[in-house]
Amino acid sequence: MSDVEQVSSVFDTILVLDFGSQYSHLITRRLREFNVYAEMLPCTQKISELGWKPKGVILSGGPYSVYAEDAPHVDMDVFKLDVPILGICYGMQELAWINGKQVARGEKREYGPATLKVEDASSPLFEGMDHSRVWMSHGDKLHGLPTGYKVIATSDNSPFCGITHEEKPIFGIQFHPEVTHSTQGKTLLKNFAVNICKANQNWTMENFIDTEIKRIRELVGPTAEVIGAVSGGVDSTVAAKLMTEAIGERFHAILVDNGVLRLNEAANVKKTLGEGLKINLTVVDAADEFLDKLKGVTDPEKKRKIIGNTFIHVFEREAAKIQPKSGEEIEFLLQGTLYPDVIESISFKGPSQTIKTHHNVGGLLEDMKLKLIEPLRELFKDEVRHLGELLGISHELVWRHPFPGPGIAIRVLGEVTREQVEIARKADFIYIEEIRKAGLYNKISQAFACLLPVKSVGVMGDQRTYEQVIALRAIETTDFMTADWFPFEHDFLKRVASRIVNEVDGVARVTYDITSKPPATVEWE
Ligand code: GLN
Repeated sequence: MSDVEQVSSVFDTILVLDFGSQYSHLITRRLREFNVYAEMLPCTQKISELGWKPKGVILSGGPYSVYAEDAPHVDMDVFKLDVPILGICYGMQELAWINGKQVARGEKREYGPATLKVEDASSPLFEGMDHSRVWMSHGDKLHGLPTGYKVIATSDNSPFCGITHEEKPIFGIQFHPEVTHSTQGKTLLKNFAVNICKANQNWTMENFIDTEIKRIRELVGPTAEVIGAVSGGVDSTVAAKLMTEAIGERFHAILVDNGVLRLNEAANVKKTLGEGLKINLTVVDAADEFLDKLKGVTDPEKKRKIIGNTFIHVFEREAAKIQPKSGEEIEFLLQGTLYPDVIESISFKGPSQTIKTHHNVGGLLEDMKLKLIEPLRELFKDEVRHLGELLGISHELVWRHPFPGPGIAIRVLGEVTREQVEIARKADFIYIEEIRKAGLYNKISQAFACLLPVKSVGVMGDQRTYEQVIALRAIETTDFMTADWFPFEHDFLKRVASRIVNEVDGVARVTYDITSKPPATVEWE
């Protein structure tokens, strides 16, 4: 959002410089939990190119050793900002390296819990924290104090567990306050951000709505038109509603019915988004076009590609048909990018990192000569959900399970035909309905039915049947990187199986998938 004020200029911001630790994003997360806005950038960030002034800076942990030849180092200009700095693990080692090179390989690695012993009770960093459990994860250690620093905390194995500059508010800690295993880690981060950096705790979705609407209006200007695809999922709905609040009818939403959406989905979206949320929506029925292209295709990767390419084609064609009342051309494309996607593309991947760009809309932007607008790119998923509720989007939609872009096409194994999609859809509908009735929907991260193109023998009304198999999947996960199957009660499974076999023609058998991820993935294809 180029010449328009960034979120980091509007809200007091703590800058997290990422040295590649697997926990870096959690630092940002934790700060936001007590309403302080934080943004993460790679450790290679040039301070002169920042364009805004942080209230404080946190140097994250990282897998490298500061003394290694190709180790990443912070831009020394960070110290010229004259704001408080907190180095965590590698971040502290970096502070020590810069000020006297007092870092070397330790005799043994330290991984796991330790007890924090505060040596200087007057240090504002550890207020309310003595003897709390902290989490360690390091192999290198300080073997002396950096010039100008003193010790403020120790642990059994780390005589330099916490250090601070004698005069300036610069701190280093060997442990990781951002992980929940450090029982009072959040207190420490709050001490740093609120008490030491004096950051305002005003990062709330209520405040975000106001500033974001203002930002959208400034960016789009008084006349330009914006287009965006909606899917019926939470991210695209929240983004579309926010655009509607900002520019009304000048935002045009398109739902492409690709023939592999959930049962009654197009009609439902029309009702909830169009009529309910008053979003300027066009529903395009392109089911035949997609299903024609999918004819005879059984390879999962091919299915995904066909659906992705056809989507771009249909979206472009339909976008060209939209005639804005203003007579202006469409200038922007809305994209529901979230902060985890941004983190993924900017996090520090090593000294020879290449920065990944977003691939999903690249094609559309180039072909249509549109500018990208991403109003959710600073938000984590739970923040988007909260925002959605504030915008009046129903609880049910806001808490909806994720649904894959290629839709039911990858839940109908083998060839995708209209008939097969219909069977999978109906089975899925019954399954989800029963999950909701049992009050389990929000306990499960994702659930769906899959149609297996395998025939099996059954008996119904004394007649032999020879029909296909439905596999049910339900998983619990926090991050979708790993997942476990959901332990339904036997009676629940019995009820669902019986309803599916009785109500869905073409199904003779129901199975429940009890594989975790890894080794299996969440989806079957
Ligand atoms: N790589 C450094 C070490 O092993 C820092 C580790 C960390 O930041 N978690 O000590």
